[in-house]
Amino acid sequence: ETPASSPPSDPSKGVENLVIIGSGPAGYTAAIYAARANLKPVVFEGYQVGGVPGGQLMTTTEVENFPGFPEGITGPDLMDRMRKQAERWGAELHQEDVEFVNVKSSPFVIRSSDREVKCYSLIIATGATAKRLRLPREDEFWSRGISACAICDGASPLFKGQVLAVVGGGDTATEEAIYLTKYARHVHLLVRKEQLRASKAMQDRVLNNPNITVHFNTEAVDVVSNDKGQMSGIQLKRTDTGEESVLEVKGLFYGIGHNPNSQLLQGQIELDTAGYILVKEGSAKTSVDGVFAAGDVQDHEWRQAVTAAGSGCIAALSVERYLVAND
Ligand code: FAD
Repeated sequence: ETPASSPPSDPSKGVENLVIIGSGPAGYTAAIYAARANLKPVVFEGYQVGGVPGGQLMTTTEVENFPGFPEGITGPDLMDRMRKQAERWGAELHQEDVEFVNVKSSPFVIRSSDREVKCYSLIIATGATAKRLRLPREDEFWSRGISACAICDGASPLFKGQVLAVVGGGDTATEEAIYLTKYARHVHLLVRKEQLRASKAMQDRVLNNPNITVHFNTEAVDVVSNDKGQMSGIQLKRTDTGEESVLEVKGLFYGIGHNPNSQLLQGQIELDTAGYILVKEGSAKTSVDGVFAAGDVQDHEWRQAVTAAGSGCIAALSVERYLVAND
């Protein structure tokens, strides 16, 4: 099971084979593969999301589209299983945020509040954070009416057959609105500006869709609830006249983008203009040899647990090849 060619870590020099930063599906999958390949990976799990390891899925309830769970599984349960699987194969897990990285030195240097680790290879799986509107009642309705992922939540019983709203004017928002028409009774697209920023093709698809109403110069101000405490609508405000109104909807989807958690690497590896780590097409290789990236931090397009896990696997297998080639 363990490839004989895998290089052992080198404790005499105090240099680890591999450090993985992040504990979402990408980080844990990379840890499982690397640990099984006897690389003894050191994982910094972080605690930024909700003060616990596990990444974005710790903030959701049911995950219905991860293969292998026909009845669905809760996000925290899925992440707990991935964590245990990584631990079982010998990954060394630290619930600490990495505060400093130097990939210009050789070996690389990784520092958290509690320790400094030197390593020959690094996988960055720090994920991304969905941008929020910071509505006054947002926390109360997060995952109970407010979502940042139409593909994840659109078919859930909470939203199916209901009137829904999407916020945003770019490609993400227009794609979310179109996707939601598969399940929703009607979709309202709330656009702050007087026009859409999305590509012409996406604009045409939205504007010509009878199941989507586009509200220009309109922003969401807060959630409105019924006497059972469920979302019953959103308070809107026109950005041109200041006029306020209530739109009756059962769900609000944010399509205003994500912030990739790549600040640690700024100025050290190539990022795109939005801050996503650039990887060579079809691989996990970044612009620095020995540094690999996986999951949402390098993916502005698919952003799914299973794609993050898949890229974590690619990153770990790439590390294995890299270490053997550079032994
Ligand atoms: P993340 O899950 O974002 O994890 C990144 C990890 O890196 C976190 O643990 C964070 O603490 C850690 N980290 C960040 N910075 C540091 C640092 N400096 N030091 C140490 N650690 C650090 N996808 C689906 O496929 N199905 C769904 O049903 C679904 N539902 C979702 C519901 C919600 C509410 C959200 C927000 C997302 C949902 N997604 C879903 C998307 C899915 O969660 C992401 O695509 C996936 O989690 C990305 O995995 P990742 O490993 O790249 O990063």
